[in-house]
Amino acid sequence: MARRAKPDPLLSQIYSFAQEVSGERGFQVAQTLGDGATDEKIEKKTKGKLKVAEIRATLNQLHQHGIVEYTREKNMSNGWFTYTWKINPDRAMRNLLTAKKREHEKLRAKMATEEGAQFYKCRKACMKLAFEQAMELQFRCPECNGKMAYAQNQSDVKVLEDKIGAIEQILSSSKSGLTTTNSGLMQAMVSGKIK
Ligand SMILES: [Zn+2]
Repeated sequence: MARRAKPDPLLSQIYSFAQEVSGERGFQVAQTLGDGATDEKIEKKTKGKLKVAEIRATLNQLHQHGIVEYTREKNMSNGWFTYTWKINPDRAMRNLLTAKKREHEKLRAKMATEEGAQFYKCRKACMKLAFEQAMELQFRCPECNGKMAYAQNQSDVKVLEDKIGAIEQILSSSKSGLTTTNSGLMQAMVSGKIK
């Protein structure tokens, strides 16, 4: 029995980036491109699950995020252009890193809010309220009428910390350069719990 080849880790990252920007369709389309594919070929490879119009819209989205590039060729008999699409790994990775930086900033801001906020919960944790709201309710839970007490957001902060750490791993390994041949970057992409 033939062993299934392990997917290229860099490509796997790019496929999930395609999914982030363009949903399940982005993921499916990116996987069909290989050394280059026309929309007809993509349609065949996705076994007709996607209409040509959907494939084109998806390719345009992927192109806007620098994940794919195209070459076009003019058909001399009818004057139409044929577009052949493929992944641009260098640009895709650069844009992936930019997106991760932006995500990092957002998470840091959220973290600052979580850390700075004082939340109140009842014993059953029906809801989580800010201090002012809890005070207005005289520290009684509106659901169960139980007493609400100060609750540090340990678990939320932990989740944020983990996400931030994973992104920092990518960003720090990419400092020495952003090409796909950069082994540090590759290493981070391969080893990370990076989504
Ligand atoms: Zn309650």
